Amino acid sequence: MVPCLSGEGNGCRQAAVAFARVVTAQARPETGSRSLRLKPARRRKDIMIMADTSTNPLASFHDEIMRDHDYTLPEALTEARRCLHCKVPLCRQGCPIENEIPQFIQALAQGNFGTAAEYIYHRNNLPAICGRVCPRENQCEGACVLNRAKKPIQIGKLERFVADLVLDNGLLDGKKKYPAAAAVAIVGSGPAGLAAAYDLRKAGYGVTVFEQASQPGGTIFYGIPTFRLHKEFVVREAAHLEALGVTFVYNTEIGEDKSIDDLFADGFAAVFIAVGTMDSWGLGVKNYTIPGVVDAASFLQKVQEVQLGEAMLADVPIRKGDTVAVIGAGNVAIDAARTALRLQAEVTVVYRRAEKNMKCLPSEYEEAKEEGIHFQFYSDPTAIIGVDTVEGLQYERQEILEDATMVPTGEFGVVKANKVIAAIGNRPQLSAIRTFGVHASDEGYIAVSSEPYANMTDRPGVFAAGDIVHKPQTVVLAMREGKKAAAGIAAYLQRRDSGAESV
Ligand SMILES: Cc1cc2nc3c(=O)[nH]c(=O)nc-3n(C[C@H](O)[C@H](O)[C@H](O)COP(=O)(O)OP(=O)(O)OC[C@H]3O[C@@H](n4cnc5c(N)ncnc54)[C@H](O)[C@@H]3O)c2cc1C
Ligand code: SF4
Repeated sequence: MVPCLSGEGNGCRQAAVAFARVVTAQARPETGSRSLRLKPARRRKDIMIMADTSTNPLASFHDEIMRDHDYTLPEALTEARRCLHCKVPLCRQGCPIENEIPQFIQALAQGNFGTAAEYIYHRNNLPAICGRVCPRENQCEGACVLNRAKKPIQIGKLERFVADLVLDNGLLDGKKKYPAAAAVAIVGSGPAGLAAAYDLRKAGYGVTVFEQASQPGGTIFYGIPTFRLHKEFVVREAAHLEALGVTFVYNTEIGEDKSIDDLFADGFAAVFIAVGTMDSWGLGVKNYTIPGVVDAASFLQKVQEVQLGEAMLADVPIRKGDTVAVIGAGNVAIDAARTALRLQAEVTVVYRRAEKNMKCLPSEYEEAKEEGIHFQFYSDPTAIIGVDTVEGLQYERQEILEDATMVPTGEFGVVKANKVIAAIGNRPQLSAIRTFGVHASDEGYIAVSSEPYANMTDRPGVFAAGDIVHKPQTVVLAMREGKKAAAGIAAYLQRRDSGAESV
């Protein structure tokens, strides 16, 4: 049984009203035309965003329309009506959370928006985000039977069309007040934290989210660039949670400003750690510590801080006219390369394997090439050239075998660059993890078990999920694990309240 969105049994009626409004309006505005309503910057109030795009190319990021723009109502209906409603829906098999895809598309095709939304929200707390950033080409859309003719149903765009409709019309705000039973502290407001906050609040628990940054969302706010995911979609997920009664405490680092012990002393009955992987791996090639070598996650975060007015453009390590070599070929590398390009740098992505081995989505690669980013394959970085600053990136040419094994050729070359961005992955922030008093691997990944409570650590009442448990993955997986942890926390608290579990 699909739960009703409003919690009061009238989600479908509300959606029908919203539907009528949409029909009247005829079409939704495109993503880029929305106004951004961010929370005011709290750390560096004195610094202003320079709105002049001639001096600050970042100012234009907010106005940039996603290439894969949103559907209008007629477009959404036309697309939904293409679906074959397969008896064995391959799309669903391709989805990591097994969303009820054919069901929601069928409801949408019939103009039954309330039912479509209820199917979507049944398994997904963040469909407006997932509908934008999930690697759909490798998941639902890649598996869709119509992909054999290279015309898969645009499932992500349909999903976000319905989710936007729900959020635009406040259908999830739920006037029902949930009694606050035991209070749960969530550490980190990325997809895992947000998903758990949603489920726990709906289950009647008091929820407070502690976040070290000034904005919610974690990597979906500070990592994924605005031109791929407009930050309004993230901010309003948090606003929706606040409307449900979730409290957000920003600029508070657990482990530094407060400990896990403090949280229990403050009366929280359980703690959920969803801190992601905040540190980057060192590049590890010769001479990589010289100025001009930048890690991708910090670079992307700095760009967001400038857009928020929390940092100056001069703080961004990439400048107009720079020649940049980006090391890596995952979506972080492509995001960093495309961001550097928007800062008017000349960008080359340097990758040790072949084009077909790249980890980024084919569409991201195509868009990056179209925008003017250069790609150099078979080139394994070996050293940064330069004394006081970067002058180039030395690489060794590789042969790549069928199974992607690299075979060094002994031939060396240099990519000319005055900046190098390393996009080779993130890892746990060990200094913080060590303060949590939970068992973790040497690298800092937190160990959890499935019994007796899903995602509980070896410390009773302390749970963990998301990238900090399963290593850096995707938004949808972090969300799925956050939901699992929420169920584990609820089971733990119920048992505790029944007197069977002492804390
Ligand atoms: C550049 C980039 C692009 C990406 N693109 C995609 C994409 O297109 N599609 C996709 O599916 N996935 C993408 N990902 C991966 C995806 O964003 C992550 O897998 C996902 O966000 C992980 O969620 P999480 O909740 O586990 O952690 P995070 O999103 O990392 O959130 C952790 C949160 O915890 C906070 N925190 C950390 N330590 C503390 C502390 N001690 N106290 C308080 N708060 C703390 C952090 O500030 C952060 O807000 C991308 C990642 C990056 C870096
Ligand atoms: S596989 Fe494609 S056509 Fe078939 S039900 Fe799923 S979305 Fe529709």
